[in-house]
Amino acid sequence: MSETAKDMKVILPGSTIGILGGGQLGRMMANAGSAMGYRFVALDPTPDAPCGQVARQIVAAYDDRDAAKELAERADVITYEFENVDAGVAAMLMEQSYVPQGSELLYTTQHRLREKRAIEAAGVKVAPYAEVRSADELREAVSRFGLPCVLKTATGGYDGKGQWVIRGEAEVDEAFETLNRAGTELVVEQFIRFQKELSVIAARSPQGEIRTFPAAENIHVDNILHLSIVPARIDAELQREAERLAARIAEGLGAVGLIAVELFLTEDGELFVNELAPRPHNSGHYTMEACRTSQFEQHVRAVCGLPLGDTSLLTPVVMVNVLGEHVEPLLALVAEQDASAERLGVAPKIHLYGKHEAKPKRKMGHVNVLAENAEQALAWISETNIWRV
Ligand code: AMP
Repeated sequence: MSETAKDMKVILPGSTIGILGGGQLGRMMANAGSAMGYRFVALDPTPDAPCGQVARQIVAAYDDRDAAKELAERADVITYEFENVDAGVAAMLMEQSYVPQGSELLYTTQHRLREKRAIEAAGVKVAPYAEVRSADELREAVSRFGLPCVLKTATGGYDGKGQWVIRGEAEVDEAFETLNRAGTELVVEQFIRFQKELSVIAARSPQGEIRTFPAAENIHVDNILHLSIVPARIDAELQREAERLAARIAEGLGAVGLIAVELFLTEDGELFVNELAPRPHNSGHYTMEACRTSQFEQHVRAVCGLPLGDTSLLTPVVMVNVLGEHVEPLLALVAEQDASAERLGVAPKIHLYGKHEAKPKRKMGHVNVLAENAEQALAWISETNIWRV
């Protein structure tokens, strides 16, 4: 088979999709794909992982070559639900199975500097940044960008980990030394005084079809996503512009499957990309009930080479994350008649991921609050008293 023909295989329902990773993203992918008639097998080291509860699971470490080989044998197509896939495993899977997403996008998005260069090459702006190899280089960049600045490790950071917001010159040495211990390259960025954080999820099929979901307005608490509000409370032209940028990135980077694009909207109405994730994204969970096609169905469609689904928004929605500390009060609410929801005319749709231990700050689920408008959904969230922030 030629490379092109191989890259454009159509995987029909009835086939088995293998997922590297068995967390909540894999679980929701498997739920959406099972409804279409696909079978799923996930590779994850935690027995009875969220995805293992709704699909078959191979219990083994992600970098276990024998387990990866078994996954390749059992699946007709392989995808992943997290981006830190071991490069050796990715290469082996590509040799032994069909991995339409390839490994290049993973390679790019595993490293902040490579990612920023790729975004710029696609003609989209990122916050001014510099690679720093020494405290002196950091000092030089700080004087160029002004304070505050954000120092980040190039690899391995998530939910604000591996970051230092430098607020004064006196912090430069300590910030450099602390993050330099991670043993990876460092990048410093200008601090963007954003009015809002937004995200857009784009999907691209191997045939090159691209569709974007409506932009979400995201609110973080302690660096963890708290709310996604859709439609984002920005004007329609900016919403379209955010979607155009995401489509340009999906095209420029040759993505297959989903790519989530996180953006800063500045006070002056400029959009800068913060970072990318080549997978379903927490800020796209709202699509499960609020769009004609969910991000998970779209991902399955894209990696299987099916035509992409309609991404239209069916209703305004606010997604609120359920962390460990929210589980108990949420379960108490679930069992009761929800007078507040009835009075406000909202429909809270509860999603829990089946994780065994509800540790504080751990993502355990989310609620998609469908409403006439964002204010009513936000009023419900506030009235429950579950999310006191
Ligand atoms: P990240 O891990 O890069 O997504 O960063 C986590 C959060 O830190 C972002 O969602 C922002 O709220 C904040 N942040 C990161 N980089 C910057 C920046 N250059 N300027 C302002 N805030 C930032």
